[in-house]
Amino acid sequence: MEERRVYYFDNNATTAVAPEVFEAMKPYFQTEWGNPSSAYFFGHHLSGAIQEAREKVAALIHSEPREVVFTSCGTESDNTAVFSALETTGKRHLITSAVEHSAIMNQTQFLKRKGYDVTYLPVNPDGTLDPSQVAAAIRPDTALVSLMYANNETGVIFPIEEVGKICRKAGVLFHTDAVQTPGKLEIDVQKLGVDFLSLSAHKLHAPKGIGLLYIKHRTPFQPYVMGGHQENKRRAGTENVPYIVGFGKAAELSLASIKEEKTRVKELRDRLEQGILSAIPYTHLNGNKDLRLPNTSNITFSYIEAEAILMLLDQLAVCASSGSACTTGSLGASHVLNAMGLSPMEARGSVRFSLSRYTTAEDVDHVLKHLPGIIARLRTMSPLNEMHPDNV
Ligand code: PLP
Repeated sequence: MEERRVYYFDNNATTAVAPEVFEAMKPYFQTEWGNPSSAYFFGHHLSGAIQEAREKVAALIHSEPREVVFTSCGTESDNTAVFSALETTGKRHLITSAVEHSAIMNQTQFLKRKGYDVTYLPVNPDGTLDPSQVAAAIRPDTALVSLMYANNETGVIFPIEEVGKICRKAGVLFHTDAVQTPGKLEIDVQKLGVDFLSLSAHKLHAPKGIGLLYIKHRTPFQPYVMGGHQENKRRAGTENVPYIVGFGKAAELSLASIKEEKTRVKELRDRLEQGILSAIPYTHLNGNKDLRLPNTSNITFSYIEAEAILMLLDQLAVCASSGSACTTGSLGASHVLNAMGLSPMEARGSVRFSLSRYTTAEDVDHVLKHLPGIIARLRTMSPLNEMHPDNV
């Protein structure tokens, strides 16, 4: 593919690998490519590199290094937490929300078909969740409460610390999918009061294909991937050393960039959002304005299909998305926006812009320059335009 200037606003889908991360990984492809389980020096000293990375990701989430298990991705971490809780408790009821990522949604729907009972907690119209609902939903047969820390489509933040207190009081295991939060929110597993927490490296400027599951010390655990004795017998499979090292480096950089994300990136996001909302009629923001990740903006453009907007943006090298990357290509409107009460038509007209520490003012200016014209053009062409109040 030819190299081309890209205006990238899809950082909740995936992020660019940081140059420092790539550099840190290189030796583990080129010279240090042994198997960490080997008895001879060429392999076994690699466990030191894995341990160093474990310490770095543990620092990012304020856990002990031994509480971190490396996995292949955020999805595996989520699936593992749910599977383990059901197996170790022997209970058959799960509590989650109506706006989770498909990693939890599709697994719990599968479990439902297999006879497990799942409560999907509703959200408020601004995407927030009332923690008292969790207390009301807990039953003697509840195996696990699993709630995301921040939503990938809207950026809305859930009250994990409050839910943690409720779960501890009730003696119920608690998992949070924190995949969207590193570098954007502080992650302190002690404060959050969670038993399990999932992360995925490709959301924090490391490669795809590596994640982690935090398992609180002494929490009963049943491995999901069974085989060899890697990861202290909690996740089998030869360790992906270069990716683990890259994840460690990315965690270190991510911790250092939180301040920037909350100031510079947030300012850029706000300028983009305000610019769109003020210049383009019949637009509105989805999700609570304040209880939100600093990098995410989800906007409805009434009377047009997001897919058409994204196609025209693509011609200008702007990458944005409608909803989750994992559901792109499926025809249904976003289940997240649907749960927030948007009509299917409004949900289908919604675009997510997500920024990162690599987003520049020039990126934002490019979108603000072209988007009003794109929307005006589409509104004159769209069949949905019939419903436009100016045409009635
Ligand atoms: N959970 C959330 C909230 C996500 O946004 C994603 C990825 O989009 C995942 C889980 C899945 O992570 P992975 O792509 O590493 O499997």
